[in-house]
Amino acid sequence: MKNTDLPLLDLHRHLDGNIRPATIWQLAERSGIKLPADSLEAFIPQTIIHNRVDNLLEFLTKLDYGVSVLTRAEDCYRVAYENMQDAQQAGLDYVELRFSPYYMAMNHQLEMEAVVEAVVAGIADGSQDFKVTANLIGILSRTFGVDNCMLELEALLHFKEKLVAIDLAGDEAGYPAKLFVPHFNKVRDAGLNVTIHAGEADGAHSIWDSIKLLAATRIGHGCAAVYDAELMEYMANNNIAIESCLNSNYQTGTVKSLADHPLKIFLQQGITVCLNTDDPAVENIEIKDEYNLARNELNLTEQQLSLLQKNAVDMAFLSAEKKSAILIDARQLS
Ligand SMILES: [Zn+2]
Repeated sequence: MKNTDLPLLDLHRHLDGNIRPATIWQLAERSGIKLPADSLEAFIPQTIIHNRVDNLLEFLTKLDYGVSVLTRAEDCYRVAYENMQDAQQAGLDYVELRFSPYYMAMNHQLEMEAVVEAVVAGIADGSQDFKVTANLIGILSRTFGVDNCMLELEALLHFKEKLVAIDLAGDEAGYPAKLFVPHFNKVRDAGLNVTIHAGEADGAHSIWDSIKLLAATRIGHGCAAVYDAELMEYMANNNIAIESCLNSNYQTGTVKSLADHPLKIFLQQGITVCLNTDDPAVENIEIKDEYNLARNELNLTEQQLSLLQKNAVDMAFLSAEKKSAILIDARQLS
């Protein structure tokens, strides 16, 4: 599946897109929330994407079940904690988990700061219990507007020392990067890294704006970069990395077929790119499936697959010392 001399990382993984169906079911039963099925077995197929959907926004509605049952901050703790167990079971050596406190809080009017505090605690405890190194990325959910994103950012920055980066996700075409310049000025003032979902549901201009206006050093998905040679050259020369999510890009209709995925072109252009899951529970996949798709559907060589694994280490929001430690640990375990 992978080069066992190299560590396995997942840098683009939404913890609120990875809520176990059994957990959703239990929390719904406890709180008397009606789900559209009579049993867990009947509910599970409704929580996952079958083959693909028409667009990103339709894909995102599948995530709504998970957050609809979060009625207390401790539910957010549980989701975060279980995500660490899932990361261990997926064989990950290091994971960057991202979450939107507004999205997790909105259905039952939870305090966003309480959500962030609970997620931070769940990751800390889970990281210790399941022995997987993790870092957290806070998401601003652009779908809910500029003002909500500012409140969301304030809640996240209250715990800024527990985060490594801030991301912008959701309705990319409806809420372009230029609307969020004030937000990301604050992010940089807080000393956090910037990664932006771009070039997924909108064009190459959205990636340019994320880099030039919001100072992103990593781009989530970035598929549309393939249509702009100047942009690809700029990204390669300025070390702007791409977090690629093959299965997600197919399921959201961002690429017509996996054979059309631009990953191989990004590698050829010298862009630092790595493989990631995005929303593993909703997609019904794990990180190993991403590598299998790259090998079997995109026909990547073993050398290219190893490069993807190594790129993930280079791209991680970690100090040089921690990167070295993760590389050494993987070699010793293999
Ligand atoms: Zn994503």
